[in-house]
Amino acid sequence: MAGVKKPPTKKSFFKAVFKHSSEAIAIIDSKDRIVEVNPAGCKLFGVTKKKLINKLITQFLVSPSHWKQVQERGEIQVKQPKKKVKTVEYSLVKNVLAEYNLLILRDITDSQLQAVLELDLHHQRVELFSEVTLKIRQSLQLEEILQTAVTEVQRILQADRVLIYQVFADGTGMPIREAVLSEFKPILGVEFPEEVFPQDYRELYTKGRVRAIANVHDQDAGFAECLIEFMKEWMVKAKLVVPILQNFKSPTETKGDHLWGLLIAHQCQAPREWTEFEQELMQQLADQIGIALSQAELLENLEDLVTKRTAKLRQEISERTRAEAALRHSEEQLRLIANGLPVLIAYVDNRQHYRFNNQAYQTWLGLPPQEIDDCHLLQVHGEKEYQQIQSYVEIALRGETVTYERDLVLQDGCVHSLSITYIPHLQAQKTIQGFFALTSDITDRKAIERMKDEFISVVSHELRTPLTSIHSSLKILATGKLGSLASQGERMLKIADEQTERLVHLVNNVLDLQRIQSGKIVMNKQACQAKELMIEAIQTMKTLAQEQAIQLSFKPCNSVVWADRDYILQTLTNLVSNAIKFSPPNSTVMLSAAINSEKKPDHKHQSISYITFIVRDQGQGIPQDRLETIFERFQQVDSSDSRKKGGTGLGLAICRQIVEGHGGQIWAESCLEKGSTFYFTLPELIQSEEDLHD
Ligand code: ADP
Repeated sequence: MAGVKKPPTKKSFFKAVFKHSSEAIAIIDSKDRIVEVNPAGCKLFGVTKKKLINKLITQFLVSPSHWKQVQERGEIQVKQPKKKVKTVEYSLVKNVLAEYNLLILRDITDSQLQAVLELDLHHQRVELFSEVTLKIRQSLQLEEILQTAVTEVQRILQADRVLIYQVFADGTGMPIREAVLSEFKPILGVEFPEEVFPQDYRELYTKGRVRAIANVHDQDAGFAECLIEFMKEWMVKAKLVVPILQNFKSPTETKGDHLWGLLIAHQCQAPREWTEFEQELMQQLADQIGIALSQAELLENLEDLVTKRTAKLRQEISERTRAEAALRHSEEQLRLIANGLPVLIAYVDNRQHYRFNNQAYQTWLGLPPQEIDDCHLLQVHGEKEYQQIQSYVEIALRGETVTYERDLVLQDGCVHSLSITYIPHLQAQKTIQGFFALTSDITDRKAIERMKDEFISVVSHELRTPLTSIHSSLKILATGKLGSLASQGERMLKIADEQTERLVHLVNNVLDLQRIQSGKIVMNKQACQAKELMIEAIQTMKTLAQEQAIQLSFKPCNSVVWADRDYILQTLTNLVSNAIKFSPPNSTVMLSAAINSEKKPDHKHQSISYITFIVRDQGQGIPQDRLETIFERFQQVDSSDSRKKGGTGLGLAICRQIVEGHGGQIWAESCLEKGSTFYFTLPELIQSEEDLHD
């Protein structure tokens, strides 16, 4: 039975297992001596079996003392010759046979080293990743962000190609950044049609899908035909794709994530398993790119805004500069004009501070405009002079225009007559901001007026004396006491008498007016009963009225006026005589008076009531455009009036001087062919209780 093989015994089985086991197996006696060891054991301890048998196990351990604490399982370190140390996982089964223990050892040195290396790599990558993230975060330049991303991912993952693929609105796309090893074909700038990246793919990526393909040619990869072609062309064997989502808020898109593009890593040399860590890293980096994109876009918008705003500001500034230049130019021109005028021009604000003065302030008063600018009137003119102008300043600051005259010694050392007008400056017709002051030198005008007045006065005086004697001589002749005249002689004498009387009247009027105007006569004012004045005027005019067949009517008023009796009588008789003169026979002339219901404030804020005297006739009337001028000297509506009606054209001018000299006003109203009405006012004298009792 030579061909029949005996089946191996159990013992031979155990022997074979013992001999070929990859785990190290040792039998140790109760005194820790090695009594048996297999070849894997010898390899682990790094010595021959001979050197192990009967040796204490502790002799081969790095820390022999630890042997006492060994448990059923654990780790120990084995000492090999040449100081080599192996980390070993052990399993100790005590008393497998009485007094003998079984020790199984497995060398884990390499796997532990591997784990350490992996951990190291992991750390390294995490560090690199934070570096990249920081770079991306710090940069606001989109170009730089994208380039950093591809370069760094390629370096960290040790991928053959890393690219950023931008997805356009129409579904097409293009790699816009790439980091690729030189031995592989670049893909940058190649345009991809929509089919390569269809709508459903885009939707999946928008939801955050990550695709990690270890081998693109695997059936499971499930790529479309055209994509497989494309991957062949660019030698893609494995790929990792993560979406770059941008938190986008545009008016057209609803709030949420927008698929901006993809971050893609290719492995071209061989298929590659993408670890979870790598996938996570890519994902986080893509998120960072998304944030950076939004920030860059914001910045771009901001820059755009800043650019636009800067341009607008520039435009505004240049417009303002132009406007300021124009203003300066017109101000210069105004100042030039103001300085060229032979008058003092100033603007004083409502705090009584000078805000503008022309050059004449320097030449006339020795006050340089720049030095008095913003100074108070009192400070500029001194106490004494300020007192003289103060009341007028106050009037102007109350909103009334005021004109006054005063004499002043100017820079040339001579006394000059000045006419000063203050015109209030009202803002929005309400608040008084200040006033304009205009001062003109009227010295020459005054001198001429004086000369004229003196001339008239002299001529009139010189005329009056011979005229008076001619007049009285003619009167004597007319009595016939010096002999009778022939009828023609009598007629001539009558004409001479009438014309002489007219001339006397004219000379008297001229002298009256001149005297009142020059202020040489003092009005002798006293309390006068208005009624009495009116009665007297009526009495005086009675004869004239009868001659002309005019009826005089009278409506008095019981007030007292403060007036010069004779002058007011002159005014009343003048007005009544005009009314009679210019009325047709059988008409009525009415003289009346009324107290003004409205009380006019005087300059001291007190109320004064006025009495208005009214002379109304039913005569020919006065044209509207002559109602003002008839109050001027030698003004007559019709030049033939003086011939027909007598008169000189001075009566109303005298009336006006008298009324204004009493602080009143005179004016006329008229309707042609219907009649005229003349009014004049005088202040009413309010008598105290005591006066009334007296
Ligand atoms: P005269 O001495 O010429 O009357 P006045 O100054 O009194 O001078 O009057 C000036 C002119 O005014 C008169 O010449 C006349 O034309 C006009 N006038 C004055 N009063 C009246 C009146 N009541 N009706 C019409 N015209 C008048």
